[in-house]
Amino acid sequence: MCIRIAVVDDLSPIAIWDPDEVSILVDRGTHPHDLIRELHAILTIDLGAPHIPGAGLTCFCGDPLQLPTELTLVPAIPGAPTL
Ligand SMILES: [Zn+2]
Repeated sequence: MCIRIAVVDDLSPIAIWDPDEVSILVDRGTHPHDLIRELHAILTIDLGAPHIPGAGLTCFCGDPLQLPTELTLVPAIPGAPTL
């Protein structure tokens, strides 16, 4: 089962892992740049997902993880999210 990314309102951390739902909850108001960095840290450090340079965010199985479109619609990210 792959990790989902769920957008919620009024989360105090930028992002938090929810093991019951196999989801990472992210705060709606977060700038995508900060969000990607935080998600990457959770995935690779807390969840043991592979770190594939240049591949962006990955699930623990190695599949790419897509950010919800409501987050990527925020302006000022040219192209695909990378680190
Ligand atoms: Zn997966």
